[in-house]
Amino acid sequence: MRLPGPLIVGGGPAGAAAAIVLARAGVRPTVLERHAVPHDALCGGFLSWSTASRLQHLGIDLATLGAHPVERVRLLAGNRQTEARLPQRCWSLSRRVLDARLLARAEEEGAEVWRGAKVARLVAGGAELAGGAAIEAEATILATGKHDLRGAGRPAMSTDPAVGLRWRLAGTAALQAMVGGAVELHLFAGGYAGLALQEDGSANLCMAVRRSVLASAGGDPVRLLERLAARHSALADRIAVAGSDPGLAQAVANVPYGWIAKHPAQGELRVGDQSAVIPSLAGEGIAIALASGTAAGLAIRDGIDAARFQKRLARRAQFPVRVAGAIARVGANPLGAAAIIEAVGLMPALSGLAARMSRMGEPAA
Ligand SMILES: Cc1cc2nc3c(=O)[nH]c(=O)nc-3n(C[C@H](O)[C@H](O)[C@H](O)COP(=O)(O)OP(=O)(O)OC[C@H]3O[C@@H](n4cnc5c(N)ncnc54)[C@H](O)[C@@H]3O)c2cc1C
Repeated sequence: MRLPGPLIVGGGPAGAAAAIVLARAGVRPTVLERHAVPHDALCGGFLSWSTASRLQHLGIDLATLGAHPVERVRLLAGNRQTEARLPQRCWSLSRRVLDARLLARAEEEGAEVWRGAKVARLVAGGAELAGGAAIEAEATILATGKHDLRGAGRPAMSTDPAVGLRWRLAGTAALQAMVGGAVELHLFAGGYAGLALQEDGSANLCMAVRRSVLASAGGDPVRLLERLAARHSALADRIAVAGSDPGLAQAVANVPYGWIAKHPAQGELRVGDQSAVIPSLAGEGIAIALASGTAAGLAIRDGIDAARFQKRLARRAQFPVRVAGAIARVGANPLGAAAIIEAVGLMPALSGLAARMSRMGEPAA
């Protein structure tokens, strides 16, 4: 089957942003999204003021969606903790709500969205669906995020790669009072856990941890959480006041933090996590997803070829990915975590500086 416009594989933030931009340019894209109904993604759901502004340009208003306002960042490790005001208001929103709204927005702008359509692999000039059907298109955007397609995989970046884990903590008044309007970053050896309240009063607990640390808990995420809580009292306090035992919601193996695509595999434009994977302790993957999706839409509109697009995007992503990587390495070491807490305690503006340096800027004119 031949599509009337570009093909976008994956309907997360990157794919939806590309679809909105293309539809607005009068180029009718088709998004193939493997999930048939709105779903949650493994993500902290933290959205900075600059991401809120990108979303605003795409026609999404976070306050209207009921996103939880976040004004402060709280850093915790062992029995140390400090907090600082963020430079501007940020937000926390479940990915179920954000992604559903972005895809709906793309449809409102004129994009076609096929839900429940899983792509098996890219081929020259298009893609092959999981059932074997061939889809042809004049251009293809790869936006499958954390999931690699056969033949277009991202390399492992480490012999001990990060594993992503997510739990949902049922909201109680005590938990809401404890976390309040802060995003919490609980630092521990080999990883971190991010915690923030979301639009429905529940809390999203998201963790990136070295595979070896998870293996030391027998590969069992719930046992790992119990072990961490035994050593980090603030984390234990939050779990204790949650409305139910946190059952594991999601896990993703081998997150290739630090990877940046330098060129396409099959002539596609790679966006979001398929273009650059920023360490999530200090970086904001959704910001890169929206910026790269937007850039890919504009590149197709302007007739820029995939190789040139990818090179330009790689240049834009390099500095923020490096800065976020350096912060993550320091934070994953107990002495480094203590030093970060000390430094932010003495100079709260450091957290805002780190946030600014780990965000992707606008393209050079
Ligand atoms: C532990 C952790 C915490 C994080 N916390 C944050 C945070 O707080 N804030 C932040 O900004 N970023 C955070 N990130 C990063 C963020 O989750 C990603 O960068 C972001 O989701 C990337 O968006 P995307 O659109 O590229 O991919 P995704 O969000 O992964 O979306 C990809 C879409 O493609 C679909 N898809 C996949 N395969 C196929 C297929 N074969 N066929 C059709 N459709 C397919 C999926 O169903 C999905 O809808 C975190 C990451 C981790 C690991």
